[in-house]
Amino acid sequence: MINEFELIKQLQSLVQGLDQTVALGIGDDAAVIDPQLIPAGQKIVIATDTLVCGRHFLEQDKPEDIGYKALAVNLSDMAAMCAQPKWLLMNLTLSDIDEQWLTGFKCGVGDLLKKYHVELIGGDTTSGPLAIGFTVLGLSSQPKKRSDAQAGDLIVVSGELGSAAFALNNPGHNADCDTQLKRPLPRFDVSEAVKDFARAMIDVSDGLVADLGHISEASELGATIHLEKIPVHAAIKNDPHWRNYVLAGGDDYQLCFTICPKDVDKLPADCAVIGHMESGAGVHVYENEQKLDLEQTGFDHFG
Ligand code: ADP
Ligand code: MG
Repeated sequence: MINEFELIKQLQSLVQGLDQTVALGIGDDAAVIDPQLIPAGQKIVIATDTLVCGRHFLEQDKPEDIGYKALAVNLSDMAAMCAQPKWLLMNLTLSDIDEQWLTGFKCGVGDLLKKYHVELIGGDTTSGPLAIGFTVLGLSSQPKKRSDAQAGDLIVVSGELGSAAFALNNPGHNADCDTQLKRPLPRFDVSEAVKDFARAMIDVSDGLVADLGHISEASELGATIHLEKIPVHAAIKNDPHWRNYVLAGGDDYQLCFTICPKDVDKLPADCAVIGHMESGAGVHVYENEQKLDLEQTGFDHFG
């Protein structure tokens, strides 16, 4: 067992020291960022998430995976705003400080910090039931809102949907799906490629129908999508519930966004047009021209 001060010292090994804007990092009462070193025209974008043991992850999960996913989920919100993540605050509530657990956790977090050049600038450590809170601050010249879809826009998703929910219900059945659940990749490649023309954007954390529903509501428009156009991993169709996974399974952390039809040729390879926005309200799902009754099938309440 180590004490809080030793723990903070250990976490300091995650600091990379590569970011000139950080005038003061871990070790004082607060961190300091020098706004003069932030490029002109960039807005500061801030997102926070809390993951609680027993609800968002399990005690027996590998600490590497817990650290990775807690941060990946938070970074995905940055991708969904078309923001580049820059600075991280980490709030840890730990029941007892197990050095081995901490080493694993630091590995998972450190992988993503290095990959995306994010600097850890502070946080808080308290004792209590295991919970992890991350606050990421990033920069964007054009943050994407949920409310900017227009009637006639095409609806686009990145990657494949339903893999994480399949893996949650069929652990160990397919390695790709297991990876999607445990180690989702925030889609900065996609947000970077579409930031100049995407209109409304959201990351698919709660399930496609729910998350597209947020775009629909915020933009005061209806959304029509076609199930057969949504890319899915071939393995998931072995499960009779695969439609639920695709439409309502959360945790994939792909991006869902709208574009003007004239921009369709600019989409990167890993993106698919699945429907369009129109006047009206709600999300309407068709499978081979047949309308699915989401209320009756309970899609909305899945997950
Ligand atoms: P204070 O009592 O002034 O809030 P703390 O003792 O809580 O200071 O923290 C000391 C320093 O360590 C601060 O700079 C704080 O940001 C940092 N820190 C504490 N916990 C964490 C953590 N989990 N991750 C990163 N930095 C941390
Ligand atoms: Mg403190």
